[in-house]
Amino acid sequence: VQQNEGWKLDNSYQRLPGIFYARVQPTSVKAPEIVKLNKSLAKEIGLDSEEIKNAADLFGGNRVPAGSIPIAQAYAGHQFANFTMLGDGRAVLLGEQITPEGDRVDIQLKGSGKTPYSRGGDGRAVLAPMLREYLISEAMHGLKIPTNRSLAVVTTGENVQREIEFPGAVLTRVADSHLRVGTFQYARNWGSEEDLQALADYAIDRHYPEIKEADNRYLALLEEVVKKQAALVAKWQLVGFIHGVMNTDNVTISGQTIDYGPCAFMDQYDRSTVFSSIDVQGRYAYGNQPDITGWNLARFAESLLILIDKDEEAALEMAKDVMHSYIDIYEEHWLSGMRQKLGLSESQATDKDLIARLLDLMEQHQADYTNTFRSLTLDTYDEREKLFQSNAFKQWYQQWQERLEAEQATKDKVQQLMKANNPSIIPRNYLVENALDSAANGDFQLFDELLQVFVDPYAYSKEQEPYAELPPEPDQPFQTFCGT
Ligand code: AMP
Ligand code: MG
Ligand code: MG
Repeated sequence: VQQNEGWKLDNSYQRLPGIFYARVQPTSVKAPEIVKLNKSLAKEIGLDSEEIKNAADLFGGNRVPAGSIPIAQAYAGHQFANFTMLGDGRAVLLGEQITPEGDRVDIQLKGSGKTPYSRGGDGRAVLAPMLREYLISEAMHGLKIPTNRSLAVVTTGENVQREIEFPGAVLTRVADSHLRVGTFQYARNWGSEEDLQALADYAIDRHYPEIKEADNRYLALLEEVVKKQAALVAKWQLVGFIHGVMNTDNVTISGQTIDYGPCAFMDQYDRSTVFSSIDVQGRYAYGNQPDITGWNLARFAESLLILIDKDEEAALEMAKDVMHSYIDIYEEHWLSGMRQKLGLSESQATDKDLIARLLDLMEQHQADYTNTFRSLTLDTYDEREKLFQSNAFKQWYQQWQERLEAEQATKDKVQQLMKANNPSIIPRNYLVENALDSAANGDFQLFDELLQVFVDPYAYSKEQEPYAELPPEPDQPFQTFCGT
């Protein structure tokens, strides 16, 4: 049959040396059925959402779109600091869609069967975690945090064996690319210098064309990725997002968030918060995320050294300088983000202290991170909150007001700035779990409501108010699981 779904696929990744991928077809599934389709995203990338509605066979991997030459990508990575070979073990890249705007985005199926990189795995994915990824990645997009997007979830009509059997699913993801720090580590360890250089040039071409003519374009690549990742992790910190599995294979060169396995949002402000069941040491705790990004970027720098300069020591010196800039760039993003959360447009030397004292008070009184900033934004305070009862907070509030007055901004303008930087809602763990439980039983009402309110979590609309409620009982210790 002639399909007219709007595909305009290229396969530029396959112009890289062969070590970077393996040709592999998705494995057909028994009875693919679309349970979730992102029509607005479909439209954005040039697909016909009316046609695509009928493409369950495509999203299930039973048919590939026109122009697709499916591959699994090779990559390595440090997983909890242990270096290992990885690769797409349960994903295939269908190709790169050229959007109406002329952008190039990867179209990837996740859960589409075994690949040469599957090792012992079955190549499959379970419905609930794929719906979770769909919901949270779309919420991240609504929160204005760079992220891959979710286009569709299909059920496969097959069960997947885990501790018990679960309904299987395939998720279709859209990303600026799937180039990762781990791709460079793979090239450095298993490829030739030419392979590594081809990869770096490809990354520059695709994500940072403006540095093509730089004096040392590989050093410039390191600088650009450092800037992008510093900005990204600052955004995570500012909304209380905990990625949960910041392995180097999950750190993109584009600066988008990828890999929504064990991630979750923090309720009470506590720097040691960890949700992932496998992160027993707290390596990827909320408060560690900026340092871990620095560690991951250092692994990227190491992979690039031989391209940066033939003289090893010279290369190391240059890379070190860039790495030293990382934490300053991060802090600048974080600090300016925090200022905006407090409605401040100007910067003053005392701001750092003002912010630190608020966070300390939140920690001390086990205050909810999101709702504290929400209260400050709306300037309404629940008297039952221990934080707001405390004299220390009242003093802090006084100083904050004085600091605001010094700027001579109108109350309206301050509130506007705060609304734009303090989400009125986050995907609370209990809400997400309830939505997934119902969805697993075929009831998508809550799931769809959440998707709807997370289109713009900064709207402060009436419809959003119920979702700002705290969990009925403190959600701790809430646990997330990956690899399902
Ligand atoms: P992640 O923790 O999602 O970053 O995945 C780590 C590695 O395990 C990647 O190489 C995945 O492709 C692989 N993997 C995860 N689940 C499966 C599975 N069910 N079958 C095959 N490979 C898998
Ligand atoms: Mg991964
Ligand atoms: Mg994963």
